[in-house]
Amino acid sequence: MAALPARRALLLAAALGPAGRRRLPRHHAPAAARLSSGAGGEAEAEGRAGPPALLRHLLLKLRATGPVTVAEYMREALTNPGQGYYTRRGGIGDSGDFITSPEISQLIGIWYISEWMAMGKPKAFQLVELGPGRGSLTDDILRVFKQLTSLLSKCDVSIHLVEVSPKLSKMQALMLTGGKVQSNPQEESAYMKGVSKTGIPIFWYRDIQDVPPGYSFYLAHEFFDALPIHKFQRTEKGWREVLVDIDPEIPDQLRFVLSPSSTPATENFIQPEETRDHVEVCPEAGVIIQRLACRIEKDGGAALVADYGHDGTKTDTFRGFRNHKLHDVLKDPGTADLTADVDFSYLRKMTQGRTATLGPIKQQEFLKNMGIDLRLQVLLQNSRDTATREQLLHSYDMLMNPKKMGDCFNFFALLPHHRLVHPDKKHKPESKSSLPPVAGFGELLLA
Ligand code: SAH
Repeated sequence: MAALPARRALLLAAALGPAGRRRLPRHHAPAAARLSSGAGGEAEAEGRAGPPALLRHLLLKLRATGPVTVAEYMREALTNPGQGYYTRRGGIGDSGDFITSPEISQLIGIWYISEWMAMGKPKAFQLVELGPGRGSLTDDILRVFKQLTSLLSKCDVSIHLVEVSPKLSKMQALMLTGGKVQSNPQEESAYMKGVSKTGIPIFWYRDIQDVPPGYSFYLAHEFFDALPIHKFQRTEKGWREVLVDIDPEIPDQLRFVLSPSSTPATENFIQPEETRDHVEVCPEAGVIIQRLACRIEKDGGAALVADYGHDGTKTDTFRGFRNHKLHDVLKDPGTADLTADVDFSYLRKMTQGRTATLGPIKQQEFLKNMGIDLRLQVLLQNSRDTATREQLLHSYDMLMNPKKMGDCFNFFALLPHHRLVHPDKKHKPESKSSLPPVAGFGELLLA
């Protein structure tokens, strides 16, 4: 897939708040795009001799211990403490590799408010974002909350950000608090805390388990696709795991190999009824979804997962992006964003029935249900100049066109069972349920 257009209109930001920031989807490509070699190496680009530090580290490791799983390779490339793509560069290539569409974040803010109201306006809630990137989504959501102050005035709202990258957490702090934060606050499980420009307390954690229990709304926007996956290939001799090794032909180059026999992962992660020949599994995503489901079951709330993904149908989706262009996943580790489509069927399975699930629903349907068409009409009527109107239409096309983000970006939700099934209804199916529909999701599907 070619590079993304560099400028996009702020469709809904314009509707709800001051416009001005321009962002792009973090990556956008057909799921099974083939990856090509050839992007200039970091060492080349920086004019250094020998392989860059992370590749050197991986080469040493591979020489010492043999091939590693794709999951281990991906973890090193993205979150190695000194040299990972997120940890060192803060996920920023020359022109920013992951920048999420702001049009959606305003609607997400509205989704939480709508769920909060549907659940009887609890007196307090935590908004917990996993992998907040630069913090702009939370910033937009806080703007929506600010605009709805009269509605939320009696509600005790706090923000909790789960972020492993020190570099990104600094950027988030700058965006959300103007940089006024306290590190390692005593008597808190958070590693940093501050107060938003709008007066809401914000806390940072490395792990979801550190977030205090309580009624919470969770958000994972392009988070799960950044977690390490295992890859498996069906062979005549049975399932084999795809591993990363040194290419014996070309110095300092990595290549994929198949494990000579089955590995613990092939035994544990491949279902006997699997029909695909190539499968990707993200156990870390499974563990996190399990934790979210337990928390929602116990303390209440909801989770919204927005990501590129499929429902257990796709095969080879592992890919790299650098400066909005496809990038060979094995080339220059640490300099590119590596991602794999989220398998929503796996996430659904990992809730173990503790919560109900809705979706995945395609972005175009979710946004239609959230009223994007009406918003566009109002914005077009209110904008006088042709350039703004063109930008609005362009932005709408990027979000809704099935060939762009409309079909491949999905929304998926976890909700307490009682949010979807009236307690009376279980016993008296004929009784009329007064439960409001869940915004964004048309038909209600129970897990
Ligand atoms: N949600 C943002 C950014 C997505 S990029 C957006 O949609 O634009 C992925 C984010 O997840 C980054 O903030 C990255 O540092 C963070 N991340 C990656 N692996 C993580 C992990 N294991 N735990 C917590 N955060 C992680």
